[in-house]
Amino acid sequence: MTDTDVVTYEVRGTTAVVTMNRPEYRNAQNSQMTYALDAAFGRAVEDDAVSVIVLAGAGKHFSAGHDIGTPGRDVDVHYDNAAVMWWDHVGREGGDLRYAREMEVYLGMCRRWRDLPKPVIAMVQGACIAGGLMLAFVCDLIVASDDAFFGDPVVRMGIPGVEYFAHPWVIGPRAAKEILFTGDRFSAQRAYEWGMVNRVVPRDTLEQETFAVAARIAEMPRFGLALTKRAVNNCEDAMGMRTGMESVFGLHHFAHAHNAEVGTDSLGGMDARSMKQVPDGS
Ligand code: ZN
Repeated sequence: MTDTDVVTYEVRGTTAVVTMNRPEYRNAQNSQMTYALDAAFGRAVEDDAVSVIVLAGAGKHFSAGHDIGTPGRDVDVHYDNAAVMWWDHVGREGGDLRYAREMEVYLGMCRRWRDLPKPVIAMVQGACIAGGLMLAFVCDLIVASDDAFFGDPVVRMGIPGVEYFAHPWVIGPRAAKEILFTGDRFSAQRAYEWGMVNRVVPRDTLEQETFAVAARIAEMPRFGLALTKRAVNNCEDAMGMRTGMESVFGLHHFAHAHNAEVGTDSLGGMDARSMKQVPDGS
């Protein structure tokens, strides 16, 4: 491990810790980080010593979301598709480019990680916004510190939520509409009340509490855990999550295309700075 790794991997007992490591950019997720996360999750799945995976963010914040403005933004970089069988986005235009790219690095990767055969716990402190919310959504459990806050403000871009649209299934339709319609942040406590977060703990005991939950889960038989995870995920899909999300992904790309058609870009002229101005509605 080096300080320049955008994702670090460490095993503590029976728990693998996968840590997003761009704290200077609040762990904004570029493609380099996406593929490093994918590699780390793959390593944890194959590591026989590992029963449970913790997804963490270095520094004060879990994740500010997708990288839409750091010097490490890498939209035009080629990668070998891992999540979906589709052509590479580099060199394509318009919707062809955006659909190929987002289906691979956002929706496809999130679905792939959501179905990892080992339990994954998100350990969340500080900001968990938009693309960061997607990362928390794909984890099986969420342990949040009392300073954590969540939000999906991309309706400001004229886009109906982030690509992995799990909101109605995770927090319920009414809360989903409130947080999307307002773009407001919501606190760990509200997330707990909506059933999205398993535990809210003091900031200084976040690690201790998260690893205690992981150790407790690790006492169960591994194959039984994998089947149980699949059982719950299958039921979630039977509740319409997968097909609902697929239809919303179409609306999402219609919004990107509309923005590009009538404005200057597919993000509705918003950038990292303007998106940061998220009011605190919690
Ligand atoms: Zn998008």
